[in-house]
Amino acid sequence: MLSNHFQNGMESAKLLWSRLPNSDEGVDGEGAEELGQYKKSDGTTVESLDYEVIENDAYRQEQAKRGKLYTGYSVAMKWFFALLTGIGTGLAAVFINISVENFAGWKYSLTFNIIQKSYLAGFLVYMLINLALVLSSVYIITNFAPAAAGSGIPEIKGYLNGIDTHGILLFRTLIGKIFGSIGSVGGGLALGKEGPLVHTGACIASLLGQGGSTKYHLSSRWLQVFRSERDRRDLVTCGCAAGVAAAFRAPVGGVLFALEEVTSWWRSQLMWRVFFTSAIVAVVVRTAMGWCKSGKCGHFGSGGFIIWDISGGQEDYSFQELLPMAVIGVIGGLLGALFNQLTLYITHWRRNYLHKKGNRVKIIEVCIVSVITSVISFGLPLFRQCTPCPEADSNSGIECPRPPGMYGNYVNFYCSNKKEYNDLATIFFNTQDDAIRNLFSAKTVHEFSAQSLLTFLVMFYSLAVVTFGTAVPAGQFVPGIMIGSTYGRLLGKFVVSFYRKLNIEEGTYALLGAASFLGGSMRMTVSLCVIMVEITNNLKLLPLIMLVLLISKAVGDAFNEGLYEEQARLKGIPLLESRPKYQMRNMTAKEACGNQKVVYFPRVVKVADVLSILRSNNHNGFPVIDHTRSGETLVIGLILRSHLLVILQSKVDFQHSPLPCDSRGGALPIRHNLTEFVKPVSSKGISVHDVHLTPDDLEMYIDLALFLNPSPYVVPEDMSLTKVYNLFRQLGLRHILVVPRASRVIGMITRKDLLIEDNEDSVALELQSTSV
Ligand code: ATP
Ligand code: MG
Repeated sequence: MLSNHFQNGMESAKLLWSRLPNSDEGVDGEGAEELGQYKKSDGTTVESLDYEVIENDAYRQEQAKRGKLYTGYSVAMKWFFALLTGIGTGLAAVFINISVENFAGWKYSLTFNIIQKSYLAGFLVYMLINLALVLSSVYIITNFAPAAAGSGIPEIKGYLNGIDTHGILLFRTLIGKIFGSIGSVGGGLALGKEGPLVHTGACIASLLGQGGSTKYHLSSRWLQVFRSERDRRDLVTCGCAAGVAAAFRAPVGGVLFALEEVTSWWRSQLMWRVFFTSAIVAVVVRTAMGWCKSGKCGHFGSGGFIIWDISGGQEDYSFQELLPMAVIGVIGGLLGALFNQLTLYITHWRRNYLHKKGNRVKIIEVCIVSVITSVISFGLPLFRQCTPCPEADSNSGIECPRPPGMYGNYVNFYCSNKKEYNDLATIFFNTQDDAIRNLFSAKTVHEFSAQSLLTFLVMFYSLAVVTFGTAVPAGQFVPGIMIGSTYGRLLGKFVVSFYRKLNIEEGTYALLGAASFLGGSMRMTVSLCVIMVEITNNLKLLPLIMLVLLISKAVGDAFNEGLYEEQARLKGIPLLESRPKYQMRNMTAKEACGNQKVVYFPRVVKVADVLSILRSNNHNGFPVIDHTRSGETLVIGLILRSHLLVILQSKVDFQHSPLPCDSRGGALPIRHNLTEFVKPVSSKGISVHDVHLTPDDLEMYIDLALFLNPSPYVVPEDMSLTKVYNLFRQLGLRHILVVPRASRVIGMITRKDLLIEDNEDSVALELQSTSV
């Protein structure tokens, strides 16, 4: 009887296989499209991650072995790794900041020294230093770590949504990201180092989670404690929060950023661990800054590490001011949405035409952008007239003019008098941190002319749009803050002259402008609000920032999606948003599957058939069916391609008999080391082409019962697609089986069945008492 069932199973498997396109050559290109494969912009197909717990025999055996001690150990390890992630990300951020500040410091000192003699020579030196730094960055990215280009946030968002983007969390990507951002930010391009720090934190976390990098012999067995992709995912979430916490010295902002922007699944235990990681980062950064204060870190110490303290600025706001503030929100929404749209067009064009021509074009492109940036930032301030210095204020620490060779506030550039400053150079020919500090400054009014602010706004906005998407690590936070604070200050100038009687600061408007642009482009609200408050140390402006962010997000949403979502879509990262599409309400699970013929395996399957079925398609999950004694078909589970490949490669589980193990007088001893099957094996580990089998092997059989996931998620065929979507998205699944209506019910679970006490004795007692 059983052999009959086996035959039936085999036939059906073969039949289905023969219906697939190009069954002999494997499925790729057109065929892959036919099967619903999602292709990325670089031509590779997108695969998902297996976050689901595979409750197979191996898993159950392992769970049974676990005592309280083991549970305590694994929880302690999770916290310990969160600690390591915090320390690692904090140190990486300090290293990047020290390097960037020093490179920028040397660059400006040298240039200022040379321009005392010749402006042309000064410009050449300035441009060449920028070019060298940027060239080093683009060289690292194109030749060593292509996945480190850009901010990396869309890819990390994809990873946490369940999409496996190749190369995004590798060791080389981490190194490329760190050194690449030092080059690109130090080289004065219109981009920031904050986005890349999120990616850096995620890479550090992921590498720790997988026990180091085996490729570079930097791994340790002691570090390999995490058994599931879920644990690694949680650690990567901690890494993202650590990145923001380190970039802005905003620990709470980091937690909220992870929650609001990057993660798709969240739970309270994770919140505590993420919070802990951010707190560790804050301590590490603070300690490093304290150590650097005494001048041990070169130019780093006075500048660097964003805290644009504007305390002491505007104390309160009046009702009349709400209108101009709302206008800032609207402008932020419009300019932010425009920024997203322009960068989308340019990135699309770049990918389809420019970057297809190879690495050399990418390098040349970045070099041209660098030269243009140098020409504009050095050249434009030459046309500005210098202004007398504002009254020095001992509290604010404003010095004007700065001693020669120094850079920072109130740049004395191309001025005949030492007691003057060039307002455009103060924001353009300066490090980004200093420029923002100047724009936020609340001490004096009118230190920037409307003409300079407008020139800077137009030029910097254009540069930021063009620079975005080049082959260097690039964050959009700081350029966004620069753009926003410029138009904010510009509007602030008019408000100050309009409401003369009120105590209005231009710096407040600059801050609100920055918030509005970020809100209009990135569409975050809570996390941005907290980050803005944390970086400016000014809690009084919280309600205003909230107002502006809400308006700018609403205006931006009317035009397009947020920057990261747009970029993810462009890169072919199929994110599952938190809400299903409206039309899914009228579709059923069966309709979503279309007319596809399911490729499945019988419980005991011939090796030759496994191999040919795996070669014939790219699916990663296959239902496994069996038959009852009465001849009924049963779906007994789901087997992963990666597990099948491990079985095929090791060969130890092959058997001569086409019968299930347990039908041959007791279960056979398990030959394979089952721990390999507790967690999904990386699909990139082995490919079907790596499997080499002899003709004898091909004639043997495998009993899949031991390795499959016996409890995959199953939905009835007429369930609405909205429900399926929510189930899939909320549980972070990779496969759902669609089945006909169930014929029998064997029980009903309600809330009461799920309220099980922790303490087993108390459960037993309770049961006894109820039975009495
Ligand atoms: P992912 O791509 O998300 O990692 P996967 O690789 O298992 O999962 P794909 O093969 O890429 O899934 O899915 C492409 C299409 O093939 C989908 O429409 C899906 O419904 C279908 N499909 C997936 N697995 C099977 C299968 N075993 N039999 C038939 N169709 C399948
Ligand atoms: Mg796939």
